[in-house]
Amino acid sequence: MKLSLRGLRFPFGQTRGRRYPEPPHPYRNEFQRDRDRVVHARAFRRLEDKTQVFSAGLSDHFRNRLTHTIEVSQISRTVATVLDLDEQLTEALALAHDIGHPPFAHAGEEELDRRMRQFGERFDHNLHALRIVESFEQRYARFPGLNLTFEVREGIVKHSRDLDPGENPDLDDYLPGLRPPLEAQLIDLADEIAYNTADLDDGFAAGLFSVESVAASVPSFSVILETVSNQFPGASERVHFLEALRRLIDLLVSGLIEGTFAAASEARLRDVEDVRRFPGRLACFTPEARATDTALKDFLRRNVYASEGILEERERSTAMLSGLFEFLLRHPDRLPSPYREQAGEGPVHRVVCDYIAGMTDGFLKRTFQRTVAEPE
Ligand code: MG
Repeated sequence: MKLSLRGLRFPFGQTRGRRYPEPPHPYRNEFQRDRDRVVHARAFRRLEDKTQVFSAGLSDHFRNRLTHTIEVSQISRTVATVLDLDEQLTEALALAHDIGHPPFAHAGEEELDRRMRQFGERFDHNLHALRIVESFEQRYARFPGLNLTFEVREGIVKHSRDLDPGENPDLDDYLPGLRPPLEAQLIDLADEIAYNTADLDDGFAAGLFSVESVAASVPSFSVILETVSNQFPGASERVHFLEALRRLIDLLVSGLIEGTFAAASEARLRDVEDVRRFPGRLACFTPEARATDTALKDFLRRNVYASEGILEERERSTAMLSGLFEFLLRHPDRLPSPYREQAGEGPVHRVVCDYIAGMTDGFLKRTFQRTVAEPE
């Protein structure tokens, strides 16, 4: 495929740089260094024990947030490479995209947000990720956080939505009103492809639906399935499903590549500054891929996210998170250092929120057992 958007690639020599200037590395460019810093961060390693959708324990094969992150990275790098964009910037952003995620998937995020609203504040995992890379990670002698380049921090802030002028004075450095570079715009849709297709895979493995029911709800899946069944008439339902799934991923990824190429070509932009000033995001699906994505989402909402097992798990984990939040709010002396000291200086709810948001599912469960369920 010749779909180059080379002129719109972020020129890495034009990075706005790091908060604390550092000498260049002899053979890694700035975005390669950012990627490596993310991979070496503790918050990145904790993704291994954070639920994506299906909690571990029922099967050894479900995604967790770390394997999901690897899938997003692989998809977005493919797209960036075909479009001739900066693969290293894309990879750094993909690997960082979920490091601010709290335990227990979306249920955990919603519950933390609900608790923070009671204090007139919010919890947002993208902003939490920014605080992780700006200050919570402590591993370098010369600066707090990971000292990432501006473009990676901007991509974290604008992962799923743009920033309006005046929206948040703390984020005024991050070019409110302007779009992020294409490399950053891709991540949100690569994320969507990765989780929709993975949730379909895991949901099928969990026995939540049949292959036919997917075909009945997602038109392009039914076309793919028919081709696969004709090609491999003797294969099992499971093999038909898996063959169809990989072709579905391919359809969506190709749709993202072609849609973005068409939108960027039609807009007749010259460089990344034009991308920034363009009124909307240019990364997008073709109409066919968009329709498939929407139908898939709708199918997953009805058959996976609203399934009994997921809802029960959600209730259990929400109750645990909420119970621990309440307990620590009332007993800030039970926070470990340095959170305990911070709670003495600032609002306790913010400190408790930061502490819980950083937890893995396993650590939250153990902490809950130790403190709330069976206090000494
Ligand atoms: Mg994600």
